[in-house]
Amino acid sequence: MQSVEAAAKAVAARIERLATERVPLAEAGGRVLADDVGAARALPIFDNSAMDGYAARSAELPATLPVVGLVAAGQVMTETVPPGVAIRILTGAPMPAGLDTVVIQEDAKVDGSNVTLPASPVGENVRRAGEDIAPGDVAVTAGTRLGGGALGLLAALGRVELSVVNRPRVALITTGDELVDVTTTPLPGQIVDSSAHMLGAMVTAAGGVPSYFGISKDDPISLAAMIASAFDHDAIITTGGVSVGDRDHVRTALAAAGVELELWKVAMKPGKPFSFGMNGRVPVFGLPGNPVSSFVVFELFVRPALLAMGGAAVTQRARAPVHLVRGYRKQAGRAHYIRARLERNGEYLIAHPHPKQGSAMLTSLIGCNALVELAADKTEIQPNSIVPALLLEAV
Ligand code: AMP
Ligand code: MG
Repeated sequence: MQSVEAAAKAVAARIERLATERVPLAEAGGRVLADDVGAARALPIFDNSAMDGYAARSAELPATLPVVGLVAAGQVMTETVPPGVAIRILTGAPMPAGLDTVVIQEDAKVDGSNVTLPASPVGENVRRAGEDIAPGDVAVTAGTRLGGGALGLLAALGRVELSVVNRPRVALITTGDELVDVTTTPLPGQIVDSSAHMLGAMVTAAGGVPSYFGISKDDPISLAAMIASAFDHDAIITTGGVSVGDRDHVRTALAAAGVELELWKVAMKPGKPFSFGMNGRVPVFGLPGNPVSSFVVFELFVRPALLAMGGAAVTQRARAPVHLVRGYRKQAGRAHYIRARLERNGEYLIAHPHPKQGSAMLTSLIGCNALVELAADKTEIQPNSIVPALLLEAV
C-alpha cells in the first residue's frame, strides 16, 4: 500500500499536458493559457489624465491662469501648449504636449475664463504611457486560467486570438449491479448512481469535459469492453468494484482492457481502494464505490491530474493550518481526511468536522469547505491541535 504522497507522485509522473488550440478572445474565458503572452504595445498607450481637472505646468504653479482649451477622452490636442495657460482636461484624455501635471477640479477655483490652481508636482494625476505594462513584458503567463482580469488585459493589448490547452475529455464509468439512473425509482436493493453526477460536476470544475458512459454491470467482460471503448478520451474514471468483494471486477477488467496498473490501494481513509493505471497515454482512475471515498480520492489525485493535463500552473489546493477543537484517536498507517467546515475566527481557521464521517454519507459534503488531514503516522490528536487542511473553497 502506497502513501498518499507516493501515490500522488506516481500519478503526477504519468500525466502529460494535452495539445493546444487557438481560440478567439471572446471564447477564451475559463480556458488555460498555453504560452506566455507578451505585451505588443504599452499600456496606457499614451500619457493621459487620471482625473477630471486642469492640466498645467508644475513649475508655474501655484498660479491663476487663463483656461484656453478643453480636451476630453478620445480627443487629441496636437499643438504644444504655450506657457502661462491651463487646459481643462477630462479623465482619459491625452496630456496636451508641454503640460506635465493635472490639478483635480475639486482643488481648482474657477473665475470666468481663469482658474486658480495650487502647487502640484510633475506627473500628479497623470497616467504615464507604459506604467501598467511596457511593450515586450510578459502580460499573462502560461498556465493561467483566464478570468476577467486576464481577458481584460489581453483585450487592452489587442490580442484577438489565444493559444489555450485543450480541455481533458473524461470518460465516466460507474459500476454496480445495484445502480440505477437518477430518473428511475430504485427497486428493493437498488440505489441511484449518485457518483456519476457528483464526479461529472467535479470534472467540469477541474476544467475537464465529462462524458458519461453509463453504468456497467459487475461483470469484468462488459466492464473491460466499456473501458476499452473510452480509450479515445483523455482520461477514464471508473467507480466501485475496486475492493476485494466477490463482485469487485475492476482489477480483472482493467487487465483485460490492457490497462497497466501502477497503483492499487493507498494508505488513506476514506478512499483506500484507489487504483491507477495507464493504457498508452490514457490514465485510468479506479475510484472507490462509496461516494464520499470517491470524492476524497478525486480531490487528492484526479483533480490535480486533470488540471495538469489541462495545462494549469497551479494544480494543488491551498493548504492551511487549522484548529481542530475536538481530539481524534486513530490507528497508525493511513492518513485520514475529515470533512469539515472552516470558520474564520480572527486570524485563526477553526475546523468544525461534520458529525457524519461515514464514507457513504453524502450529507457530510454539504457545507464542507475543507479536508482536514490527519497524517498516517499520527494516532492521538489532542483537542485544540493545529493540523493541516486542504481548502476546497476560499474561507
Ligand atoms: P463497491 O466499491 O462497488 O463495493 O461499492 C461500495 C459502496 O458504494 C456500495 O455500497 C455501493 O452500492 C456504493 N456505490 C458504488 N457505486 C456507487 C455510485 N455510482 N453511486 C452511489 N453509490 C455507489
Ligand atoms: Mg460495486
